[in-house]
Amino acid sequence: MVATVVSRFFLPPTCGVCGGPADVVDLCAPCAAELPWNHHACRRCGEPLARASTAADCRVCRNHHLRFARAFAPFRYAAPLDRLILRLKSGHLATGRALGYHLAEATAVFYANLPRPDVVAPVPLDRRRMGERGFNHAARLSAAIASALDCPHAPRAIRRKPGRLTQKSPSKTLRRQNLKGAFASRVTGRHVLLVDDVYTAGATAEAAARAMGNCTVDLVTLARTPSFNR
Ligand SMILES: [Zn+2]
Ligand SMILES: [Zn+2]
Repeated sequence: MVATVVSRFFLPPTCGVCGGPADVVDLCAPCAAELPWNHHACRRCGEPLARASTAADCRVCRNHHLRFARAFAPFRYAAPLDRLILRLKSGHLATGRALGYHLAEATAVFYANLPRPDVVAPVPLDRRRMGERGFNHAARLSAAIASALDCPHAPRAIRRKPGRLTQKSPSKTLRRQNLKGAFASRVTGRHVLLVDDVYTAGATAEAAARAMGNCTVDLVTLARTPSFNR
């Protein structure tokens, strides 16, 4: 840790993708530009679209009851972002800073003309993974977002209830059943921004949002898997 701080003081940041020099965060501008940005996304649910659309919703969110007022993801889940997310999960601080920086910047742009949330909270890890890793990578992302939006950050406001099964089940229905009632919330505020790393089927984030009762819940994830891959 001390070595990391000292080396950052003397050495300029290097890019986590190409290894070249980087300016502010640990991802150089050309590599950041080449990331799989979710440029054409549904404005309501964040679904990656083939082309730009001004519609307020898309086929996916029209056909699926969305627990979130809005869901947003600046990236599609694709290379090389998948590799960077693995590094974020392993606790690599420089990658966490770079991803947090880009996610926070994009989220601030997303909220430019929208009401800002009262509080920002991460989806908690299940207890086994939290025990293994010792940190919640989603909380690193939510901290960066809370700072960029100038909103309170509540890293422990949502928790996993003990004794629940993890969602490692091949069946989508079983996964959703396992997650039912798996979360408890102490969130204060009517409008909550929930933060996670990747939105795949959305079951975990939806279960966490359900624990917040009547709150308006928005969801921001770093990346989004298109629904045709689900
Ligand atoms: Zn680079
Ligand atoms: Zn949609």
